[in-house]
Parts: sequence; structure tokens; C-alpha cells
Amino acid sequence: MLPQHFDLLKGLVNPNYVEQGAQARNSRSKHFTALFIQRRLPDVGWKEDDIQALLDEMASFDTNNFEGNVGVGEREGRVISDLVRRRHFGLTHGIGRSGDVMAEQPKAAGSSLLVQLTRYLALDAIRLAGIKAAKACAVLPAATGLTMTLVFLALRQMRPEGKYVVWSRIDQKSCFKAIGAAGLKPIVVELKPIEGTDALGTDLEGMRSAIEQVGADEVLCICTTTSTFAPRVPDFIDEVAVMAQELQVPHVINNAYGLQCSKCAHLVETGCRRGRVDAFVQSTDKNFMVPVGGAIVAAPSAALVDKVSGLYPGRASMSPVLDLFITLLSLGAPGWTGLLQERKENAKWFEERLGTVSSKLGLRVLKVPANRISFCIDLSPLGRSTDGAEDMDHLTFLGSALFTRRVSGPRVVLCTPKPGAATLDVETPADTIKVKGKYQKVIDGTPFECYGAHTNFYPCCYLTAACAIGASRKEMDAFLERLEAAVQDYKNGAGRKEKSGIAKPALGS
Ligand SMILES: *Cc1c(COP(=O)(O)O)cnc(C)c1O
Repeated sequence: MLPQHFDLLKGLVNPNYVEQGAQARNSRSKHFTALFIQRRLPDVGWKEDDIQALLDEMASFDTNNFEGNVGVGEREGRVISDLVRRRHFGLTHGIGRSGDVMAEQPKAAGSSLLVQLTRYLALDAIRLAGIKAAKACAVLPAATGLTMTLVFLALRQMRPEGKYVVWSRIDQKSCFKAIGAAGLKPIVVELKPIEGTDALGTDLEGMRSAIEQVGADEVLCICTTTSTFAPRVPDFIDEVAVMAQELQVPHVINNAYGLQCSKCAHLVETGCRRGRVDAFVQSTDKNFMVPVGGAIVAAPSAALVDKVSGLYPGRASMSPVLDLFITLLSLGAPGWTGLLQERKENAKWFEERLGTVSSKLGLRVLKVPANRISFCIDLSPLGRSTDGAEDMDHLTFLGSALFTRRVSGPRVVLCTPKPGAATLDVETPADTIKVKGKYQKVIDGTPFECYGAHTNFYPCCYLTAACAIGASRKEMDAFLERLEAAVQDYKNGAGRKEKSGIAKPALGS
């Protein structure tokens, strides 16, 4: 309704009531005004009704929703199912134009506005997470791995002679496959144990010599990672960034779930300030709890971000953008920073509880102080029987025991302590129960020993568990209880019996 409508209504009921109604409506408009002017996360999260009202308003700007609109193009935002139309709030034109995925779409002013507003909100969320150096970003309807590929392809247009990506090893398939998908050759730099801890960190000298070996000009970029399974720790982003600057090689950071962790955010921030960071990519689902499907590419300057959106061939789905827009408005700044704070406190709490439970079970938590999301317990004592014989393979039972107890996410990693013991991976039940390590795995033609452990050899077998954003203490407590029960079962010989076929594994507790 327009302001003059209220005057017209004053003849129908008591004008004071109309006035009150108009004022109530104004407070909603004030939220809109603040968003349009400030273009940052609201000081208070929006109510669902207000978000819905804004989306309805925006959708009415798109031609498919115009009254009396006649479409004679082959793409007119037609949607035959009403359920599907409602699922998308009537925003059916997608985003972008054929030449640029962030460009305005003349048929869809409302969708185009939402894309731009979401970029501002995402940038604000990145800054609030601690990366103040972020100056531009794009929310892309592709998950992290594919978005990394797009970043590599955009860099390639700027640096056509670059054909190698110098990559600090992390045993996560999509980020590695991102390199091959861009038609580039990976140079894998193995990690180094960090003295005085159980952690694995960046081999800076190894990175440097890898670059010097092929010549900096032929290196498209260095690729580092922040968020990662322990015992790997975030790469030493700041020091790599200084080296990237010195050698004049671009530097791309895989910050998949790093926004949720102040330590990762701080590393990206110092990297941008002290050295060279060309772009950093983060998952929308892992950081903002939206359905899988999007990623944010951000950078200390707009050039590469624009290049990435300009490279995208054609239009794309609005859904990941819309999910993030709705989520960020409903969280507001305090909702977002509150989640970050809560996760930080939960992680500290979880690590302590994990320590207590582990020592009760005669196990220990690995010392990986620089990883603030993922934690590991050394399982080796469980693999040794009283007569001193070793049978680490049985440890896989723990993975399946946890899975049947409805615990998702932990990984049992079986490691080869020294050369010569690795076997070739056969896609066995081991894969379905998330047993990693020990085996060699070939990905895109590159063999990795002990895949899953981030390193060819590691002194012990372990179990990892993460305390990620949104996980509640209740959930983590339930995990610890089930872990305890699974380990007790194991100690009572459940895994061994299962293997010898005497008994079937017990189903959940
Ligand atoms: C999740 C994740 C990715 C990307 O996976 P997508 O499925 O492409 O989102 C890449 N690297 C790391 C370290 C991750 O955790």
C-alpha cells in the first residue's frame, strides 16, 4: 500500500486505528530502508514475515510476475508447478545474463537486486568473522570445489603461461579434483610434522622449492587450505602469502569451513595484509547452515572476483543466493557473531570433554593446538592386545559401530607408521564406514599414500570428530556417550567376533 491509501481508509474506520496500522507498517519499512542504505547485516535479525514481505516485493519486479505480461522469448521464467513456484518465492528467472553471472538481468530487476544485496551481506558476514581485508565477493551457485575450479580458470585467463598449481597436501578430494578440472597440473607438497606436537603443517621450504623447480612463471598459483581434519592444521597462510608476494605467484586459499573459526579467519586476514592473497573461497552450507549448493569467492580486490563472474557461461540458479540472503537477514549481525562465539566455546568445551572420556578409556587426544575445529584420539592402544600383538585393521569396526549407533561424521584413520607397509586401496566396505588412511589412492592420476591421513606415514591410527558451527553440546555429549559404548564393545571383542563370523555387530544403542 502507498501512503495515500491510508488517507483513503480513514473514512472507513476510526482514523486513529488507521494511523496505528500505518505506523506498524512503517517499522517494517524502516528495516527495508536500513538494509538498502547500510547494505550490511541488520542490527537485529529480521522476523520471517518481514523477510517474506521483502521477497514478495522483490518478486513483483520480475517480468514473470507482471500483471498482463506477455512473454514471447524462449525463457520467460515460466514454472508449471505451483509448489515449485512457491519454493522459489516467485523468483524464477535465476541470476546473471549469458555473459556474466553477477550481471543485471533486464527481465528480473527483483532477482538482480537480491543478488547484489546478498553480496553485500555476505561481505559483511566475512568481515564480521574477522577478515576485514575482504573487499569484494560473489556468491556462486556452485559448491566449493567447482568454485575453486572457476577461480583457477579465471586466473588462467590473466596468466596464460601458468600450468601448475602448487598445493599443500590436504586429503579432501573435491579441492584436489578442482585443479584437474581446470586442466591444470597439481604439484603436491607434502606436509611436515610440527615439533613438540602431533600436528602436520605446511612445508614452506618445500613449497618454495616446488615453485623454483618449475619456475614461478609456469606456476598458475599456490593453493593453501585453512579448515581441515586434524592432525593437519591450517596452512601457514601468512607466511605463504609473504612468499607468494616475493615470488610474484598468485595465491588462492581454500577456506571451505574456515569462516566459522576465528583462527582460520585471522590467518586469511594476516595473509591479505602482509602478503599476497588473490582470492579465498568458502562454502555457504558449511559456514552458514544452508542447503549444499553455493560458495562465496572473496578477495582483497574486485578484479579477480569480477573475472570469475565474467567467466561463468550463462545464467545460474538463484536458490543458493536466496538461501543465503534469507539466512543472513534472519540471523542479523548478532545472530551470526553469536553463532561464531558459541562454536568457539563449544569447541573448547568439547576438547576438554573428549580428553576426559579418552583418558577414562585409556586413550589420549592428539596434541594439535592449531586446529580449533577438528580433534583426534589416538586409537593405537586399542589395536594392541595384551600379548603385544598388533592388529590395527580391526579398528575399522569402531567406524561401523559408531555408524550403526547413528553417529555421522567421525572418521577412523588407519595409518602406516613407516615406508613399505602401504597396500593398494580396494573400494571395500572400508569406504562406506569412512575408514581412511593406510591405503594408497589414485586421484586424477596422482597417487597418494595413506590417503585420508594427509601424509604418507603417521605414527598412530586415530579417530577424528569435529565441533562445527551449529553443533549443540547435547549432540556432542550424545556422541561421547556412544563413542564410549562403542569402545567398550570393541574392548569386549565385538570387532573381532564380527570378523571371524561368530557374531553380527550389535545394532545401535
Ligand atoms: C568441503 C570441502 C571442500 C569442498 O567440497 P564441495 O563439496 O565442493 O563443497 C573443499 N575442501 C575442503 C577442505 C572441504 O572441507
